[in-house]
Amino acid sequence: MKIICIGRNYADHAKETGNEPPTDPIFFLKPTTACLYPGQPIQLPDIPGEIEHELELVVMIDSYAKDVPVNMALGLIASFSLGLDLTARTLQDQLKAKGLPWEKAKAWDGSAVLGEVELPMTASTDLQAFGIELKKNGETVQKDTTANMLFTVAELIAYVSRYITLEPGDLLFTGTPSGVGPIVEGDVLEGFLNGKLLLNATVGKR
Ligand code: ZN
Repeated sequence: MKIICIGRNYADHAKETGNEPPTDPIFFLKPTTACLYPGQPIQLPDIPGEIEHELELVVMIDSYAKDVPVNMALGLIASFSLGLDLTARTLQDQLKAKGLPWEKAKAWDGSAVLGEVELPMTASTDLQAFGIELKKNGETVQKDTTANMLFTVAELIAYVSRYITLEPGDLLFTGTPSGVGPIVEGDVLEGFLNGKLLLNATVGKR
């Protein structure tokens, strides 16, 4: 099992981080040790600078697949939820400026926060028509629709599978909309999909 994360999949977020919208999907990996399961507090890493939230639609893959055509891709999804791709933003900006890989800023223990509720993929599920919203301490900080993704979930799966074989249990974080921002000890983060609370996490001690 692995965690595949998509970067810059909403134009507004690309803009807020000072990037052009990509012409092809951008992806990177987190190790399984990055998973933070429901009920566990977020543990801020010992990394200087800001740690930011990125709310994302997360889909779970349920079979082995390589070179998947776009029109077959959704059939590989077992379920979906929301997740937080926690990012050491100050460090990521430094790494980006030097042209270095992002793993130190993205792949640390507990940086992939998983939702509490997983919804099953059905024939009528439209992954590109979800409202997603993150509240921090009760206030909305990220709010968008998956209709605004630059690449659809099917396109992302097809693209990634050209490079990496997908395996059962793999998680795909599909990119964050705008509104990313810092988290500090004591913050309560709640993720909603179409108004339904799927993710609830508290930031513990640093
Ligand atoms: Zn992200």
